Amino acid sequence: NKELLSVENLKQYFPIKGGIFGRTVNNVKAVDDVSFTVYEGETVSIVGESGCGKSTTGRAILRLDTPTSGKVEFDGVDLVSLNKKQMRKMRKDMQIIFQDPYASLNPRQTVRQILNEAMEIQNVVPKSDRDDRIAELMKTVGLQPFQADRFPHEFSGGQRQRIGIARALSVDPKLIICDEAVSALDVSIQAQVLNLLQRFQREMNLTYLFISHDLGVVRHISDRIIVMYLGKIVEIGDKESIFENPQHPYTKALLSAIPVPDPEIKKERILLQGDIPSPIDPPTGCRFHTRCPFATDKCKEELPVLESLSHMTEGHEAACHYAKEIETGEHKPTKDIT
Ligand code: SF4
Ligand code: MG
Repeated sequence: NKELLSVENLKQYFPIKGGIFGRTVNNVKAVDDVSFTVYEGETVSIVGESGCGKSTTGRAILRLDTPTSGKVEFDGVDLVSLNKKQMRKMRKDMQIIFQDPYASLNPRQTVRQILNEAMEIQNVVPKSDRDDRIAELMKTVGLQPFQADRFPHEFSGGQRQRIGIARALSVDPKLIICDEAVSALDVSIQAQVLNLLQRFQREMNLTYLFISHDLGVVRHISDRIIVMYLGKIVEIGDKESIFENPQHPYTKALLSAIPVPDPEIKKERILLQGDIPSPIDPPTGCRFHTRCPFATDKCKEELPVLESLSHMTEGHEAACHYAKEIETGEHKPTKDIT
């Protein structure tokens, strides 16, 4: 498949200013040297605990924040070089759906006005056709056309998320970034919205970058998964590889935390201990070493790079000095793991 989005060495530092001259005294390294590719028509999820940099990555791709450095290429265009006006045009092809649609829907506008405005800004549908388009969009997301004349507060949470989706779809995008898009919804509503998103993907050849802390949701929707920890990618691979053959101790710990449906399946359990360290002054070497049961002195000093080892499937990469040795049992935990 065609490469749609490519992120290269992306860094997003937020300066912390201090002193009487307001100089930058330190940086929050929210995203620190992240690279990955998304192909047309696939769903790539970014998972990790809050503060790992997953939302910041999404915002940097859309240039809602300007990246500190690195390259973001979308459909062959280098986004970082675009000015505001050029970037606004690009947003026709790159939409975002947030966790809380209520916060992103103007409470004083009816749904019709909201959808109209989105189409107006991108100049996608002629004015005379917009009412038809709005009726069609409403039906597409499972709402009634007459409901377009209501205000956001007149809808339930799940319905509001459908309106957020309708707005994203109204401009006929290629990529939709879903940032915790179903996290606030009840489980049954979650499933409905996820199924809707999957249907649109097939019918409209959409590509999703799905940002979530919820591995159950990610398992449902993804083709490939990126695991982030403290601003860095620690593991990337096909969904099956990540779930069935996780390589990085952090990924194993995240997976340990979700219940196993079949009690016969014995999983290696790794409990995540302690809090995520501050991204202002992240741990040296492997950033996970302060919480990793397998950490050694080498982990404190040397930063592990993403690599694919012979026992891993193609495209599966992990950043751990001992991925292989943990797999074979040659490297044992140095701390209690359960
Ligand atoms: Fe743990 Fe060391 Fe691997 Fe990091 S490099 S995940 S600290 S064993
Ligand atoms: Mg977030």
